[in-house]
Amino acid sequence: MASSAAVDRPAMATNPRYIFFTDFDGTITLQDTNDWMTDHIGFGAEKRKGGNGSVLTGERSFCDSFQEMMDSINNTPYEECIELLKKNIALDPKFVSFFDWCDSNNVPIVILSGGMEPVIHGLLSHWLGEDNVRRRLQIVSNNVVAREPGVKDMWKDAGGWRLTYHDESSFGHDKSIEIRKYSKLTEAEGRPVIFYAGDGVSDLSAAHEADLMFAKAGKDLVAFCDRENVPYTEFNDFGDIAKIVEDIVEGRTTVEAVVNKK
Ligand SMILES: [Mg+2]
Repeated sequence: MASSAAVDRPAMATNPRYIFFTDFDGTITLQDTNDWMTDHIGFGAEKRKGGNGSVLTGERSFCDSFQEMMDSINNTPYEECIELLKKNIALDPKFVSFFDWCDSNNVPIVILSGGMEPVIHGLLSHWLGEDNVRRRLQIVSNNVVAREPGVKDMWKDAGGWRLTYHDESSFGHDKSIEIRKYSKLTEAEGRPVIFYAGDGVSDLSAAHEADLMFAKAGKDLVAFCDRENVPYTEFNDFGDIAKIVEDIVEGRTTVEAVVNKK
């Protein structure tokens, strides 16, 4: 039924021919919000890097390590975290014009993130305007809840919040789950062409579902794609992405031509 389809697949509301899925930290932003908070108001860069190392060797799960990072910053009230990030994290300077172009050309943008929804929403509202974010973007990510049932205000109280995961996967958020709702559609059901942009290891699961994947130059995802033989197109900033997406949508090239170019 149309109504349940709209709930399952919000990005299909305008019957788009293309959907742009993207990671947030390090892809749309120039720095990683969670790393910044851990390094500056949490247990610090050294311990964070040690934690990342033990995840890579398989000693610890990503979920446990990331939860510990977030627990180390949770003495700072959540609203204060967002204010600090507004001052210290920058948006890819080419993202705003891409965002506007997508809006004018019926290409919905869906953010798939292993970060926290209120941080992403807070920063994007700061950069793009609250109304634009509510109206023109969908955010699927991990979230936060009140740490204890007795917390008065989880946004304002020190120690008032804690991280909660989106699903049971080893990354806390399996990005392929959301994309698969669209990629499994048949042509008769209006399956859209799926773009994806990312920079890290957690983007790899999404890569398998995308028709065209953009991987940020010099970052982990490029190395993983090379190792796993996943095709990708490198980008330095959203100017590179915009050029290719616009050429495809406006008929000057095809997804196949771009994928096979490498
Ligand atoms: Mg990232």
